[in-house]
Amino acid sequence: MTAVLLPGRPHIAYRDNELFVEQAALGALAREHGTPLFVYSRASMLSALAAYQRGFAGRRARICYAMKANSSLAVLQLFARAGCGFDIVSGGELDRVLAAGGKAGDVIFSGVGKTRAEMRRALELGIACFNVESEAELEVLSEVAMALGRTAPVSIRVNPDVDPKTHPYISTGLKGNKFGISQERTLEAYRRAAALPGLKVVGIDCHIGSQITEDGPYLDAMDRILDLVEAIEAHGIPLQHIDFGGGLGIAYNGDEPPAADALWARLLQKLDARGFGDRELLIEPGRSLVGNAGVCVTEVLYLKPGENKNFCIVDAAMNDLPRPAMYQAFHGIVPVTVTVVNDCDKRSWEVVGPVCESGDWIGHERELSVKSGDFLAVLSAGAYCMSMASNYNTRGRAAEVLVDGARTHVIREREKSADQMRMEKLLP
Ligand SMILES: *Cc1c(COP(=O)(O)O)cnc(C)c1O
Repeated sequence: MTAVLLPGRPHIAYRDNELFVEQAALGALAREHGTPLFVYSRASMLSALAAYQRGFAGRRARICYAMKANSSLAVLQLFARAGCGFDIVSGGELDRVLAAGGKAGDVIFSGVGKTRAEMRRALELGIACFNVESEAELEVLSEVAMALGRTAPVSIRVNPDVDPKTHPYISTGLKGNKFGISQERTLEAYRRAAALPGLKVVGIDCHIGSQITEDGPYLDAMDRILDLVEAIEAHGIPLQHIDFGGGLGIAYNGDEPPAADALWARLLQKLDARGFGDRELLIEPGRSLVGNAGVCVTEVLYLKPGENKNFCIVDAAMNDLPRPAMYQAFHGIVPVTVTVVNDCDKRSWEVVGPVCESGDWIGHERELSVKSGDFLAVLSAGAYCMSMASNYNTRGRAAEVLVDGARTHVIREREKSADQMRMEKLLP
């Protein structure tokens, strides 16, 4: 038996020309459960987490999974059992954490637009920290906490103005961006937070962007955050923790992001050198924990060769895999079964879905030898796919399977039309 690994995806490999996730053959899973089908490797998720855990061995650190990357309950359950906390951005995500067996005390709450109702519920449940993103939010949070007779633990999200060198839609730490408070306003905001009766300052945080593939932006952000910590503490406001956010990238298309443990070895060296080595640290990784643990299996419906372009129409679409349409993002697309063909059977295909939008594409100019009925695997589909999936065109959301060695668990059933229409009412 010959095993051919896919780079950056240690638990996804061809064996005898069939693609496997751990010990589960994707072709068999697709036939059993239908397509489009998301398949995740449990071992991949846990080994991605283990790289961070190794990086922080011997430190006071808390890893809060940024669950918007993939908020399926079983995925949250896996991370909760492995000792993760959660970074949430809505009250709905808090409900999911609790439903998955996570604890409110391990939750931090980010986001620029928290509502009073979301604040109230998070306070009542006793979350660990609110990552506050504006001065106006400080005032409202204090009011809400006072009305409940509570004190809200807060960290202020600072915008360190470093360029993460990623796509503009996923860069969040530059000036002119809606996230966080500028460095110039930070001290003032901390003084206000310290003075507000409903708040207790516990930390500082930043998150500079996503799909970051170099360590430079992190090192720069760390320097700027530590400068601010010094300035804030010089004003008599102690900070218990420093939260460096998430953002570490994955290999989508030959990208070579640093490994989490290697990145943190360098960051911790800087932290130690600046005298902050024993501070409690938080991080909020999302994509790097789940992205390359997942694939989306899709069936080729029709081939439509043309004069200028050849279209390969598959049954997954922008409602299942929104990243190409949203960010012109690249997902690898590979056959589930490799058939032995000579190269002249290969063509360059535009891989597109059935949705009625020209933006509904999955991959441009992909060299594939395909025929109708074949299964293809769309790679790197563990992050920002199912959690962003929609019902556009009244398409039911896909099913999800989690593979654990040779065992497979359906963690989400395929959505039916009746599920989609359940909340709707006809006129009298
Ligand atoms: C999205 C987000 C993250 C996670 O980003 P990844 O690139 O998926 O690691 C972390 N923190 C905040 C505040 C976020 O909005």
